[in-house]
Amino acid sequence: MFTERLKNLTPYVPGEQPQDRRYIKLNTNENPYPPSPAVADYLKTVDVDNLRRYPDPLFTELRSALAQRYGVETDQVFVGNGSDEVLSFMFYAFFDSRQGPLLFPEYTYSFYPVYCDFYAIEFQKVALQGDFSVDLDGFLRAGPSCGLIFPNPNAPTGIGLPLARIEACMDSYPRDRVVAVDEAYIDFGGESALALINRYPNLIVARTFSKSMSLAGLRLGFALGDRQLIQALYTVKDSFNSYPVDTLAQQAGLRAVQDRAYYDRITARVIATRDAFSADLKRLGWFQMTSSANFVFTGKHGVSGEEIYLTLKEQGILVRYFNVDGLKNYVRVTIGTEEEMAALVAAMERYL
Ligand SMILES: *Cc1c(COP(=O)(O)O)cnc(C)c1O
Repeated sequence: MFTERLKNLTPYVPGEQPQDRRYIKLNTNENPYPPSPAVADYLKTVDVDNLRRYPDPLFTELRSALAQRYGVETDQVFVGNGSDEVLSFMFYAFFDSRQGPLLFPEYTYSFYPVYCDFYAIEFQKVALQGDFSVDLDGFLRAGPSCGLIFPNPNAPTGIGLPLARIEACMDSYPRDRVVAVDEAYIDFGGESALALINRYPNLIVARTFSKSMSLAGLRLGFALGDRQLIQALYTVKDSFNSYPVDTLAQQAGLRAVQDRAYYDRITARVIATRDAFSADLKRLGWFQMTSSANFVFTGKHGVSGEEIYLTLKEQGILVRYFNVDGLKNYVRVTIGTEEEMAALVAAMERYL
């Protein structure tokens, strides 16, 4: 009844979305602020009759708004049902391990090995540097590979890479192998590789509406890159599901993209809260990595990440820990509102 393929899958485990009680939820890097009011305005006036029709399979309006927003051509933009879907299409389209393994950092977004399993792509993890930053030279030293993928800033460390380093890596990497930069958190302080996509036809950038755009529930992600790469993603999409992004998501997403002022404001607020929280951690004697994202990777000597997680959960606060060697002493804390972070700091002072 079940295929060998299915039996061999090891699915990604998303962060808890508890239904049992109300938590201060700092475990899945969601935005603490609501989406742009323009999204609510649109959803209140939806023409339901229009839902008889299939959505636009080319995402025309949303694509051109994104192109305008990021200063690229429309045919350099692909849209998908969350960036997880966009990433999975990239794995299918670009990474063929007959040319060598796909390389990604040892500690990174744990969906990458899941896609490798799904599409039968061999991979090799490349150790982080001593300061936990992604080792781009390590990618180059690793020998022949079919492509590279890494988040910038990296997850779950929050550490960003300077653009000059990515540029140097692109200069040394074969032009016929794709380099994918997953910029899920770039708006919170990273240096985007977008500035390089017109110079490197093998560079593709993945973005999401889930974090800085406060729309994780809408499921929207996109990719920016050379038109041939983008065309390849359309080919994968149209071989699988022509309509992954529904009409409501396309239209609501469009309103969000057009309200840049609102998002600049809430992003600045998250960044300010993060920096205040980092200062609190320092005052409390917790160690932490310098974050360019909307979360902080932190810990306390003598306490495991799991213990921190369990203690805070009892206090009604959810954070995320990773049961992996090398990350066991840390928890990843999403930046919430100022009030939520004050409650967390109080709980840390009292119980840890
Ligand atoms: C959250 C996240 C994503 C997935 O975003 P969705 O658009 O919600 O699918 C992709 N990559 C990284 C590194 C993330 O943290």
